Amino acid sequence: MKIVMFENRNAIFDFDLPGVIDRLKYYSDQNVHEATELLDTISSCLSPTIKVTSDYFGYIVLDLIKADKGHVYCKVCKETYDSNQLSSRPLGLGKTPFSINLKEKGGIIKRLFSKKQLIMGRGGEAYDCSEHHVLISMITWIS
Ligand SMILES: [Zn+2]
Repeated sequence: MKIVMFENRNAIFDFDLPGVIDRLKYYSDQNVHEATELLDTISSCLSPTIKVTSDYFGYIVLDLIKADKGHVYCKVCKETYDSNQLSSRPLGLGKTPFSINLKEKGGIIKRLFSKKQLIMGRGGEAYDCSEHHVLISMITWIS
């Protein structure tokens, strides 16, 4: 089976090709230009190990890890982990603007209804290895 590899500063990720194609098709169908481009590149690649360098692929990596697919090599502890061994961590204000802690007294609710102040923020998701080294972190929204 063909393998798709993606390397960033902290880690090297590998995934089986069908799972990657599946996610790329999903985004390509939603007219995500980068996904369509990657799909073309990957489909036309003949080597058994396909190396992807596009930063956009980081979002596909998040999806695949979330689905417990693939493996990650941590460059710090030099260990390979299955995706289901990684721990997920919200960045900034969280995975989506809606995961903001609503119990925070006064805070966000007050700001939501205050016309003077616009909510500015950004959030995303990160994955760490079991030794708490950051493997990947992606900003998934900015308001
Ligand atoms: Zn590590």
